[in-house]
Amino acid sequence: MTPCQLAYSQARIRAYTLFRQEQPERFNELVQQARRDLGLPVAEGGRYILPIDHGTENGMRMHYRRKIPACQPCRDAYNAAVRYRRQQAAARKRKRTA
Ligand SMILES: [Zn+2]
Repeated sequence: MTPCQLAYSQARIRAYTLFRQEQPERFNELVQQARRDLGLPVAEGGRYILPIDHGTENGMRMHYRRKIPACQPCRDAYNAAVRYRRQQAAARKRKRTA
């Protein structure tokens, strides 16, 4: 975790605590302020625009969440990750039965 991510998650925890303390209208405001302090992009309407991490399994997930058709590098990364996990599971199974 980078210092930037750490500061962001701490700010988010603070914001969430306030939210729980019956200040739901302050939640988004605090999260947005935290993002501004860290120089992260802040989008209109309380939704965050982070660039999609193309060519990674997480990038594939970001495509899905935004309902944007996945690009080829993301599909490839996702398929490779699924294939890898399947092979690992098969290898474990072989070990158990052997
Ligand atoms: Zn992509």
